[in-house]
Amino acid sequence: MKTTIATHFTSVYGPVQSWRFGRSLGIDPIGSCSCCSFNCVYCQLGKIERQSCTRQIFVTTEQIRQDLQSFKLCNLDTITLSGSGEPTLAQNLGEILVMAKETIAKPIGVLTNGSLLPDLQVREELAIADWVAVKIDAIDSDSFRRIDRPMSTINLEEIWAGLLQFRQSYSGKLAIQTMLLTAWSDRQQTDYLHQMQTLQPDEIQLNTPTRPQPLVHQLAARGNHPPQDLAYPTKQLKQVDSEVLQAFADRLETAMGIPVRYP
Ligand code: SF4
Repeated sequence: MKTTIATHFTSVYGPVQSWRFGRSLGIDPIGSCSCCSFNCVYCQLGKIERQSCTRQIFVTTEQIRQDLQSFKLCNLDTITLSGSGEPTLAQNLGEILVMAKETIAKPIGVLTNGSLLPDLQVREELAIADWVAVKIDAIDSDSFRRIDRPMSTINLEEIWAGLLQFRQSYSGKLAIQTMLLTAWSDRQQTDYLHQMQTLQPDEIQLNTPTRPQPLVHQLAARGNHPPQDLAYPTKQLKQVDSEVLQAFADRLETAMGIPVRYP
């Protein structure tokens, strides 16, 4: 039996069961049209419909407040701002975080690709969150462009500088998320380790594509329906073996003494 597909936009969805965050209620500040500064080759939303680096209000804070009130807010581990693209593009990010913290007594976090971290205003708004997970899929510019396919004005060095500044001022939990599409060489692992030792995140999450990728944008892809229940065309991406993830995670954990998790 196929899952009924959500085509009507609501800014709150889930709860989603996540290996990284537990039972998480999603807030989508972006809206029914996917919008991101990246267009990652593995994006679970499918091809990004609109690429942008410009902040704007996509969904009003009041609409999100009303959508939250219609949800049963029990049995949750956390609230996650993510959804249909890059949440820091929402100009009302800080306002949404304040409102959600007043509404729900649960930790609230943001999944971000980090592209707007060079902006002080974005760093200050993100600092309201209890946890922030930043995507770092590559340590060299060529791989970054090939995997994350950012807009041409974005560069990895500026993201990294913004991330270091954020780490210095942020007192919440900072996680780094890294998607592995192939096994990394010893040299790549060593360079990554050195960068993480400089950054000092609280946790690292190594990932590999475990869910099928929609061929075109699907609102329902914000959730985590079992693959056999998906009622839209998808393709399965190549995964890295769990032994490879485990070996890399062990190396990082031993060197850094922080939790390194993988699916
Ligand atoms: S940053 Fe996230 S939302 Fe944006 S394209 Fe990559 S995976 Fe998709």
